[in-house]
Amino acid sequence: MGTVNPNPGNAASAANSPGSMGRCQVCGNTRQTSAVKFHHNIGMIVLRQTRSIQGNMCKTCMRSKYWEYMGKNLLLGPWGIVSVIVTPVYMVTNTVTYVSGTRKLSGALE
Ligand SMILES: [Zn+2]
Repeated sequence: MGTVNPNPGNAASAANSPGSMGRCQVCGNTRQTSAVKFHHNIGMIVLRQTRSIQGNMCKTCMRSKYWEYMGKNLLLGPWGIVSVIVTPVYMVTNTVTYVSGTRKLSGALE
């Protein structure tokens, strides 16, 4: 069983290292995974809620979670004063996370 070595202080070199073998925390299969975190916002005019998911995910799960969170941001996100600012920020952050995670797992099997 491979262990994941999170290296938050050194993201630049981590992006070039291949994804480590491990258990995908979404589907439970042993695959090459990458640690990712996605956020989505739920705007309720005055109130807002943030949901996030963090874990080691395989390429397939990363893509499906990315689109799930992207869809929720688009549909539920921008309905509020703060939300209209926060939601695009989450969408950009999620996209950056997704792109760097996909690069890391570019050679991985799906
Ligand atoms: Zn998976």
